[in-house]
Amino acid sequence: MATKKKDYYEVLGVARNAGADEVKKAYRRLAMKNHPDRNPGDAAAEARFKEASEAYEVLSDPEKRRNYDQYGHEGVKSSFGPGGFDFRRDFTHASDLQDILGSIFGESGGGIFEEFFGGGRRRSQSTGGARRGADLRFDLEIDFEEAVFGSEREITLPITKDCETCNGSGVKPGSRPETCKHCGGSGAVVSSSGFFQVRQACPVCAGQGSINRNPCRDCQGNGRVRTRTRLTLKIPEGVDTGSRLRLAGKGEPGSRGGPNGDLFVITHVRPHPVFKRQEEDLMCEQPVPLDIAMLGGEIQVPTVKGFAKLKVPAGTESGKIFRIRGKGIRDPHQRTVGDIHVRVHVEIPSKLSSKQKKLIRELSESMTESNYPRTETFRQYAQNFYERKEKMGQ
Ligand SMILES: [Zn+2]
Ligand SMILES: [Zn+2]
Repeated sequence: MATKKKDYYEVLGVARNAGADEVKKAYRRLAMKNHPDRNPGDAAAEARFKEASEAYEVLSDPEKRRNYDQYGHEGVKSSFGPGGFDFRRDFTHASDLQDILGSIFGESGGGIFEEFFGGGRRRSQSTGGARRGADLRFDLEIDFEEAVFGSEREITLPITKDCETCNGSGVKPGSRPETCKHCGGSGAVVSSSGFFQVRQACPVCAGQGSINRNPCRDCQGNGRVRTRTRLTLKIPEGVDTGSRLRLAGKGEPGSRGGPNGDLFVITHVRPHPVFKRQEEDLMCEQPVPLDIAMLGGEIQVPTVKGFAKLKVPAGTESGKIFRIRGKGIRDPHQRTVGDIHVRVHVEIPSKLSSKQKKLIRELSESMTESNYPRTETFRQYAQNFYERKEKMGQ
């Protein structure tokens, strides 16, 4: 039964010329409304959720959107393998998607800490089955030095885990939840109006299928308790802003014996007063004394591993960039080391003594046009301009 695929713009309810923001907003609204965690057991909602996610996956990606606009569904077919779109599997591209879902379902929406995939909310149909814990994201701000050399950090994560008293059931030990009579334990009720059948979460048991008459005191019947866990994080050498460290099994603990989620640590590197970073290369600006710039000589350049010597040739001007190879940052994956780029600024001496002034005057008197070729060229341009102007009788 092959049904015709719906137009992605129609799915999201946006115009064909809708901007990125509008597309995002429309998707967010639909995802919130139809997310499986909010509509347990509602296959239609899940289908709508998948449909919206697929549409968003295409329309939020400029290239895919272009292909879709030009060739329709055929143009973007290949990106969704034989199993169709799977937002949980398509992990790498969907970082934006994660952000959106993270802020919808996150524990502290948009804060430093948020929860994404893996289902942050408890499934309502708690049949006692094991469930994998949610993946957690932790944004960590680190100093430039820590990023360059690597370091160890103690972090505290707020996590949610099964209540130990009731083993995650939410029911006081020794008692059992009652099957909800209103929905017969299914958690959903179907009402019909005219042609339409509307399937809703059972209002009596809030979609749980059962009623907990004796909630566990330690978790107030939630089955989960919020707690904090400390862990030591090894930051590898060479990480940058946006680097993502994955700590398998360090995310939210699984429920009822299910496996733990993973922890993703995203690093944010604070800016450094001297060094700017461009991938594995470092940039820095450095003054050079006037006499060294004129006569040539050696200066000390700061690198992340102590000073390095830099030979400055005679006649070096402000703005010139020198490269010192292998004094940059070690790439954490490639094991290669970047360079350092030094842009020099000639420093003009101030506070001259009368003896120094006298020497400079002597120097000045000895200077000829050939010492300042550019000044001379410029002077000639200007002169030609006025001469020509005169000839034209202006
Ligand atoms: Zn409990
Ligand atoms: Zn019910």
